[in-house]
Amino acid sequence: MIKVKDALKIILSSIKPLGNEKVRLLDGLDRVLADDIHANCNLPPFDNSAMDGYAVRAKDTKGASGIRPKILKVIEDVAAGYTAKNKVCDNQAIRIMTGAPVPNGADSVIMVEFTKKDKNLVEIFKQTKKGENIRRAGEDVKKKQKVLSKGTILRPQEIGMLASLGIARINVAKRPRVGILATGDELVGVEERLTKGKIRNSNTYIVHGQILKCGATPVDLGIARDYRTKVRKKIEAGFAKRLDMLLVIGGISVGDYDLVKDVLLDMGMKMKFWKVCQRPGKPLAFGIIRGIPVFGLPGNPVSSTISFEEFVRPSLLKMQGSKNLFRPGVWAILTQDFQKKKDLRYFIRARLKNIDGKFYASITGPQGSGIINSLVLADGIIVAPEEKTFLKKGHKVYVQLLRHGFDGGAI
Ligand code: AMP
Ligand code: MG
Repeated sequence: MIKVKDALKIILSSIKPLGNEKVRLLDGLDRVLADDIHANCNLPPFDNSAMDGYAVRAKDTKGASGIRPKILKVIEDVAAGYTAKNKVCDNQAIRIMTGAPVPNGADSVIMVEFTKKDKNLVEIFKQTKKGENIRRAGEDVKKKQKVLSKGTILRPQEIGMLASLGIARINVAKRPRVGILATGDELVGVEERLTKGKIRNSNTYIVHGQILKCGATPVDLGIARDYRTKVRKKIEAGFAKRLDMLLVIGGISVGDYDLVKDVLLDMGMKMKFWKVCQRPGKPLAFGIIRGIPVFGLPGNPVSSTISFEEFVRPSLLKMQGSKNLFRPGVWAILTQDFQKKKDLRYFIRARLKNIDGKFYASITGPQGSGIINSLVLADGIIVAPEEKTFLKKGHKVYVQLLRHGFDGGAI
């Protein structure tokens, strides 16, 4: 048996980035950016008004107040998208809308709320300071500035930044194609009738979602019955589909029908490890066949899901050149005692509450490796270190976050 830390090291050292492809900007959401991006222009590109009002010279508004307004001559109107034809000279103003370029001669904008227009004259009730209500060229981004870093997972705001810079196509990491093969005579499809002794194949569905959430492409290879020839045939069919990674679920433990490991070895897999000091998910296997990383995920749904989270997810992110391979976490106060075995790292599913700025973690009921509800109820995963045998109520635990929002998390 190998420690979690060492298993992760072995896996990540075998995973190589897949390379890049060009996509249209709108297809870049949630993809990993493959280049550093430097601004090719200033943002905003020109000085413009931050308000609807009048472009003026600050010195012409000096001393203006509600009782002693200054009166200026309005020589032109300029809307966003247009440029003023005239220059603002002594005691003149140009009516200006938010986003319109600041006219020559003007050095500030007075908000319309502090003015009153009468024909071609405007009363100004407040003096302006030079630069007031003007958004300077380059105040957001300066030309040549680095705005995005290679390895960033693109969110809507990064897509917006690229749009502002006029970048219509971007270089992103290729999406890994990940084969999912479920194994087991007991498994039936979601729409099939459950007969005695059968259960539904839930793992394919969970793993399918997990793969998508990592930005990768799931390739469903179906269910293989517990015969060597059948498992092998399905794996061969999978390899014909240009996979970048293969996940075989179930049949990797020590039962009489757990034949996945033997099949993989027969097919020439270089086994890197089998069995990890963790709960759930002890029988996890990892190796390489024909240059492709292969995980043998344990069949119990919680074991499979957690093994994916801890090992497969970072691998898929590394394949895509992502900067952050691991989920963010918080330290939280445990609300109950928890007994564990020494020398195993436990991944305990927990609910989180944020009360007065402190996080509290409560265990999601029974933690058996078949209890899917322990995952459904979970906001995060408590990582309980190998050396501990007991986690005490009131002590702090590290929790990997599985979602952004949870009770009390909002302001
Ligand atoms: P195995 O690792 O094949 O011995 O499976 C361990 C447990 O997980 C057994 O109770 C299986 O029925 C269950 N199991 C295996 N594969 C799946 C699956 N795809 N969906 C749901 N349960 C599964
Ligand atoms: Mg099985």
